[in-house]
Amino acid sequence: MIEEKLRKRLKKAAAAVICISLLFLICGGVFSAYLENTRNQLLREQVIIEAEEYKSRILKQLRADFQTLSTLSVFLGSEGSSDRELLAERLSQTQKYNDFVTMAYYDQNRRGVISNEGETPLSNAELSELSAEGQEGIERALAGETTVSKLFESTITNRRVFAYSVPVYEGGQITGALAATDQIEIFSDILSGDTVLGGGGYIHLIDSRGDFLIYSSKTVIQNATSSIFEGPYLSEASTNEVRQAMKNQKRIFSTFSYEGRTYPFLLEPIGLNDWYLFCVNTGEGLAAGPGSSTRVAQIMFAATVLLIVLLMIYSFRILRSYSQELLHLAYYDPLTGAENMSRFRQRLTETLKTSQGSITALTIRHFPFLIEIFGKEKADQLLCEIKEIANKHMEPGEFLCHDAEDRFYLFFRETDTAVIRRRLKAFIKEVEEISLFSSTDYQLAVYCGVTISSISDDPAAEAESMLTRIHFALDKAKGGHSSTVWFFDTELHKQEELENYIESHMHSALQNGEFKLFLQPKMDLRNGALNGAEALVRWQTGSGKMIFPNQFIPLFEMNGFCISLDLYMVERACRQIRFWIDNGMEPVPISVNQSRLLFFEGAYVQKLTQLLKKYRIPARYITLEILEGLALDNIDELNTKIIQLQKLGFRISLDDFGSGYSSLNILGNLKIDEVKLDRDFLINAAGQEQGRVKLIMEEIVRLAGRLGISTLAEGVETKEDEELLRAIGCGAGQGYLYSRPLSAPDFDERYMKTRSQEAEIFL
Ligand code: C2E
Ligand code: CA
Ligand code: CA
Repeated sequence: MIEEKLRKRLKKAAAAVICISLLFLICGGVFSAYLENTRNQLLREQVIIEAEEYKSRILKQLRADFQTLSTLSVFLGSEGSSDRELLAERLSQTQKYNDFVTMAYYDQNRRGVISNEGETPLSNAELSELSAEGQEGIERALAGETTVSKLFESTITNRRVFAYSVPVYEGGQITGALAATDQIEIFSDILSGDTVLGGGGYIHLIDSRGDFLIYSSKTVIQNATSSIFEGPYLSEASTNEVRQAMKNQKRIFSTFSYEGRTYPFLLEPIGLNDWYLFCVNTGEGLAAGPGSSTRVAQIMFAATVLLIVLLMIYSFRILRSYSQELLHLAYYDPLTGAENMSRFRQRLTETLKTSQGSITALTIRHFPFLIEIFGKEKADQLLCEIKEIANKHMEPGEFLCHDAEDRFYLFFRETDTAVIRRRLKAFIKEVEEISLFSSTDYQLAVYCGVTISSISDDPAAEAESMLTRIHFALDKAKGGHSSTVWFFDTELHKQEELENYIESHMHSALQNGEFKLFLQPKMDLRNGALNGAEALVRWQTGSGKMIFPNQFIPLFEMNGFCISLDLYMVERACRQIRFWIDNGMEPVPISVNQSRLLFFEGAYVQKLTQLLKKYRIPARYITLEILEGLALDNIDELNTKIIQLQKLGFRISLDDFGSGYSSLNILGNLKIDEVKLDRDFLINAAGQEQGRVKLIMEEIVRLAGRLGISTLAEGVETKEDEELLRAIGCGAGQGYLYSRPLSAPDFDERYMKTRSQEAEIFL
């Protein structure tokens, strides 16, 4: 029970620990996701701000380059551009003051001059010699547009360049177009700074196909690729969404993976030539800045959760060890270390589910004196030694416990009394040899009560029953000078149980009318007529059980209760006779058994006369049956009493004659009216000694007849019995041949109703 409870409590505690820990972890997860989200949001915003910044710087550079070119075109326009030699020289001069790779001028005839950085200028170039992108720029400028081309392979320098083209006006007319190429690397300075995301990021410049225009040296991807779509870095989903965004010239955040890590990036359109800034956040350096504070918070939070979880686990462990301690206290005896009664009871129930066995309860003879004489410490030591010895005698699957004081219980998986006795003998021998008191003459002895299990559907009930039975057995074992083993005896116990019931219920039973009057007819052997009845008591308990007189009369004779019961039965008999008279039935005398104690009670005669008075019946209807044993002590006193009663009208019958120390003398000396030959005579008469018994009976009947004593034989069971009695001249018979004792109503039904008719006729 306790174990169960503790286990449940521990389970609850464990569940609580797990739940709370989980709750904390979930909270932690949500919190850190929130932090992460906020951080990402912040980072995105920062990336956008920075991308905008770089975008504006690139645009500023472009604008500056246009500015330079436009200013130059104005000069060219105002000075005239017909002298191509001069024009070439001028372009070459100008180029020294700017960073353009090539500068070129073409007139409306698509002829022009080209100045290459560090080379002699070309004064008679044809437009058609230029690359397609160059030509397109010039053509559009000649038509009045200002353009920046995409990157192309310059036919002049064989370098990848892009070109600015502006128209040249002369007197309001477009006379030519001025172009300048520049290498994309001019933006490198802008983009390669360490300042991208505070050092935690880098920026590539890409075109609308995803090809790199400027490839940042700080890239995380170490394998050189020419396009962002090249290689396995962008997932299919990322690729699709990036392409979609590029189609619409939209800003997009996405991710790519490299060496197991995911990097977020921003694709920001510059708004010129379909160029994009590809900004990657590596999550390092200063870019980790805002993240690092979140991380600190996360770490702090994780540490707190961990601490709480650890604390909870710690307290759970304490609780568990405390529970185990409780369990130990609940199931073990602190003195001997053996298990205690609760545990024993539990194990017994468990074991009885599958097998049978026996329990032995053991106590030590005179244990309180042992404590007094040898001291508590020695006594405790003795208990510990007994436990050790008992342990040695246990076989697998067997167990023992130490209950209070000197009481031990041992369970053997054994039901054979001989084997149990042998094993206990060996065990007791060792106990008796314990050397604690060897210096004295004291001889240690133990008392053992044993009970064997019986097969039962309910092991718990059987265990309890065994533990109850064992005390009866132990009680029986106690008291001797030497060690004793006593096995529980079911029959004996039932008897004792009944006696106990009888003694504790007799008073209430008398009050509740549980003692019933039964009547057995006495028959006149000469004419076969009913000539009386014997009152025999039956105890019908409240639960309907019938208890027979042999089971309680001897006990009542010992405890004196028969005085009350016999008087009660006399009253019942009186009442019955009154009933017969009142109901017009001719009464027959009723014989009532009188015990010795009642017969010699002071107020006996007085009480009898009171009853006769109460029921207004003549004393001749009551026969008092006494036992011959009464005559043993003082025959004169008995005779005095008999004569006194006879004077009042009572008849006296001597019961069970011939069963004890009967002598024919008694017949002569006692003033009785009737002698009842004991049932033994008829039993013996049916046996071998037939002839002799018959002779004795004949002699008794004859003597009784001469003394004026009527004769009645008990236990007439057969016709032969009846014939024998008739042959020897016995007056009356009583026995099963005629009827078993009947309840008063049954008796009336069977014998008295016919008598009433007779009585009517008689009247
Ligand atoms: P008892 O006075 O000798 O009564 C005769 C017993 O023999 C009765 O037993 C009766 O039932 C039984 N009996 C009668 N005919 C036969 C037969 O043919 N064969 C056999 N085998 N038995 C027969 P019961 O009623 O069990 O009474 C037993 C004894 O208890 C009585 O023996 C008597 O001594 C005593 N007893 C009964 N009622 C009372 C009572 O009210 N007061 C006292 N003091 N003793 C009583
Ligand atoms: Ca009797
Ligand atoms: Ca008798």
